Amino acid sequence: MSTIRLEIVTPERIVYGEEVNMVIVKGELGEIGILPKHAPFVTPLVISVVRIKKDGTEQEVAISGGFLEVNPEKIVILAESAELPAEIDIDRATAAKERAERYLAKIGAESIDFRRAELSLQRAINRLKAAIRK
Ligand code: ATP
Repeated sequence: MSTIRLEIVTPERIVYGEEVNMVIVKGELGEIGILPKHAPFVTPLVISVVRIKKDGTEQEVAISGGFLEVNPEKIVILAESAELPAEIDIDRATAAKERAERYLAKIGAESIDFRRAELSLQRAINRLKAAIRK
């Protein structure tokens, strides 16, 4: 089966770098599956779990949004933050989820902080999903 190199990087570190068979990401318009030899393109990604297929196994990486770039040599995901399931601190994500929920219940939807709290809640839920599925 053909492969392409996938790199997942954040401003802090290289989270993943391997030859893979397929990558499934969530762009703003929905899910996109990328196979080796895909045409070059760039797209924004939402808070989501990246699914990586390699040698008949599937691995997941939680990302907090970013960009996907496909070029002839490799696929690059430049994420604001990214964690492998085993790196996710469940207690921290649970605390972040509860904090965001409490805050959202307190402030109104018209508050300028509403979107920020909503994104924080989405990141926490996304991490919990990735950690629990592992
Ligand atoms: P928190 O409120 O818990 O800080 P956050 O969503 O605001 O969560 P980010 O700003 O997205 O955190 O990430 C800051 C750094 O902390 C990144 O390096 C990210 O990978 C890491 N990080 C955040 N939450 C977790 C977690 N639950 N487990 C492991 N690493 C985490």
